[in-house]
Amino acid sequence: MSARGRAAISWPRFVERTTLCGAESAALPQVADLTFNSPNVEARSSFLSDNTHGFATLPPVPPNEPLAPGLYLVATPIGNLEDITLRAIRVLKQVDLVACEDTRQTQKLLNRYGITTRATSYHEHNEASRAMELLEKLAAGARIAVVTDAGTPGISDPGFRLLSLAIERGIAVVPIPGPTAFVSALVASGLPIESFSFGGFLPPKSGARRRELEKIRQSSVTNIFYEAPHRIREALEDVVTVLGNHRQIVVARELTKIHEEFLRGTAAEVLAQMNAREDIKGEIVLLVGPTAEAPPELSAVSIHERVNQLMRVEKLDEKSALKKVAKERGISKSEAYRELQACKASPR
Ligand code: SAM
Repeated sequence: MSARGRAAISWPRFVERTTLCGAESAALPQVADLTFNSPNVEARSSFLSDNTHGFATLPPVPPNEPLAPGLYLVATPIGNLEDITLRAIRVLKQVDLVACEDTRQTQKLLNRYGITTRATSYHEHNEASRAMELLEKLAAGARIAVVTDAGTPGISDPGFRLLSLAIERGIAVVPIPGPTAFVSALVASGLPIESFSFGGFLPPKSGARRRELEKIRQSSVTNIFYEAPHRIREALEDVVTVLGNHRQIVVARELTKIHEEFLRGTAAEVLAQMNAREDIKGEIVLLVGPTAEAPPELSAVSIHERVNQLMRVEKLDEKSALKKVAKERGISKSEAYRELQACKASPR
């Protein structure tokens, strides 16, 4: 660990709090003492009221100011190396160690910005053991940044284990915001944006993927998923099967890179565009718009229809499908069974 910074700081007690400014305020004594970290409630509330006039923004920290101990979750570019914040660069320069998913990948970024901080690996295969090592260093007062190959740590990427342990131990955890693929995809998708759900990667196998899609059949918000290029065609086929030809979707590919593109349209249209291509490469975010149907009246779909639907889409046998329908409708299995028999006896 570099002695720079640690030797220079005398830590006020309140800096131990695990808040954003609890960690970085060491670099901003005048601002911090009067505002975020002040134990003086009046000073704090007057700061908050000033907030409405725009004083909430912390000024940029001079590059030579020391950084407080803690775990820094640093977002990095998702393709375009320019997409990194001044703060992220400063933090990466000032921490004692950068824990990264792939040291070779991160080294390119560090080299680009003249960052000479030591990098160590922290990925899904060594997450458990490495988290404990990093935690010991943090407990001893280290400043450690976690970065992944792209985007925000923890978002479909490693980071969560170390973060949870750090929180448990009362170590300051500081997010350094920046790119994340699903937000860029969402904001430019043209799909409703005021309310959305992010589901991470869709399951790789069709059965599980269809079950996942079935869950959003009646969704009234935009649903966002990550998908691999070699699976996007079959994923779109499942979208068409489960959600129908007409569901509005967007495939956002290669965001922030040279071949960035957005394919917008109905599920059938986008699938046709994908099928017309020889090869699909690059990184992909799949966005599924809300249902255009009115919210379902459960009773509008007969038990027989719903059982058939579940057998078709989720590949359930009749008994399991019936059990699920009973649960959905809050009725007993025997009641559902009686209704099913009645439906079968006199189909609508
Ligand atoms: N932590 C990252 C984030 O904050 O977005 C996500 C990492 S996850 C392992 C990688 C997936 O994110 C890719 O398979 C793709 O679905 C999506 N992704 C990452 N970069 C992207 C880009 N430039 N364009 C489109 N999707 C991207």
